[in-house]
Amino acid sequence: MAQPPTVLVVGAGVVGLAVAALLARGRCADRLRVLVLDARPLPRWRAEDFDPRVYALSRASQQLLEQVGVWQRVALARAAPYRRMRVWEGSDAFAPSSIDFDSADIGEPDLGTIVEDSLLRTALGEALAAAPQAHLQVGAEIESVTAHEREVVVELRSGGSVRGTVLLAADGSDSAVRRLVDLPVTGHRYEQTAIVTHIASSASHQDTAWQRFLPGGPLALLPLADGRCSIVWSLPTAEAERLLAASDAEFLGELNAASAGAIGELTACSKRVGFPLQALHALRYTAPRVALLGDAAHTVHPLAGQGMNLGLLDAAAIAAVIEDALLAGEDVGDLKVLRRYERDRKGDNLAMLAVFDGLNRLFGLPASVAPLRSLGLRAVEATRPVKRLLMEKALGLTAGRTNRLRWSRAESQA
Ligand SMILES: Cc1cc2nc3c(=O)[nH]c(=O)nc-3n(C[C@H](O)[C@H](O)[C@H](O)COP(=O)(O)OP(=O)(O)OC[C@H]3O[C@@H](n4cnc5c(N)ncnc54)[C@H](O)[C@@H]3O)c2cc1C
Repeated sequence: MAQPPTVLVVGAGVVGLAVAALLARGRCADRLRVLVLDARPLPRWRAEDFDPRVYALSRASQQLLEQVGVWQRVALARAAPYRRMRVWEGSDAFAPSSIDFDSADIGEPDLGTIVEDSLLRTALGEALAAAPQAHLQVGAEIESVTAHEREVVVELRSGGSVRGTVLLAADGSDSAVRRLVDLPVTGHRYEQTAIVTHIASSASHQDTAWQRFLPGGPLALLPLADGRCSIVWSLPTAEAERLLAASDAEFLGELNAASAGAIGELTACSKRVGFPLQALHALRYTAPRVALLGDAAHTVHPLAGQGMNLGLLDAAAIAAVIEDALLAGEDVGDLKVLRRYERDRKGDNLAMLAVFDGLNRLFGLPASVAPLRSLGLRAVEATRPVKRLLMEKALGLTAGRTNRLRWSRAESQA
């Protein structure tokens, strides 16, 4: 009997694990095998540790995680829904030119949920372990990728090789697969580094995500379940390096000035971690038997907290394309099949990248254009349909494919 096709996934970050779980628990689960490879072991989430790396997940991302049966585990363990978002530029978070996004205005219970990376990966890893046709191999750093007429062969640095029908590369912004199969990229370094840490404050975060645009880069304060906030502070790299090396007291002094008292005095911080920032977009997402997804295909500025959400939309789109092709009896590694995924996602990803890049540039412009920016912010605040559209976009409620995917699944299960 012919072997079922094998989907190789390189990268056990959230995006790689999510696409593997979608396929291994989806409508074609009994028609394929999934092998996930990662150079490093999966983290193990523990309630007593707080992972500095958190994501603001959109509704579309939440729905995807519900679909693979991990959302409940995540929500019960530790997740922080946020109901409002306040965006401002000057020293007053409540100035008329600040924008207040409220989930009640679009009839939604929240605008998203803050979740730790290690919790998501632990839950997705458990979901995969429970799927008999899925397997995770760690310590598997890839050395070469060769596409043949009917299969793709991956050689591992540790020796040995694995074979598959198609390879999904979710190996992050510095993707080795992308380099090995020679898929070109465009982009630039921001000369900015984001400092990430958790902070305690004297006033409540009010289940609100706060974002102040500063000349050096945006500062975001994301509400956590234990009353603290996770901060993502993008700064010119030299300044970020200085603050990463500073004492807690020095760092908190400057952070207090930057947050302008929006949630009272910031009194303590945990370990600080720096992430150098870049914008990157692959000119092509696909090559014979290979598709890029997540940060391997596009890396965006964290100012809107959308990188992971875009990656999860990629995961949903490629899983749907592979399943449709399997049901139609097609070769799932065929370039013409993989291009359907590329057509579905590339335009949307590129548009989002351009918006985040543009916003970062706009707020980095000198103080002389501040009155114009303030006028723009006031206009958004005063125009309900624009605010509504922005909120729906951020929640992923206007993303076509995931919703179409849900419909086609519901129909096929009926
Ligand atoms: C400061 C900051 C804050 C952010 N906040 C948000 C947010 O609030 N919301 C949001 O949506 N997004 C956010 N993002 C973006 C988000 O972090 C990324 O988009 C997301 O992590 C990409 O996930 P991924 O699975 O594609 O890649 P990664 O998370 O980078 O995972 C890649 C995986 O591939 C493995 N790997 C790499 N190379 C190899 C190899 N050669 N062989 C085998 N395995 C390999 C790695 O070990 C890793 O496990 C933020 C980013 C930054 C920098």
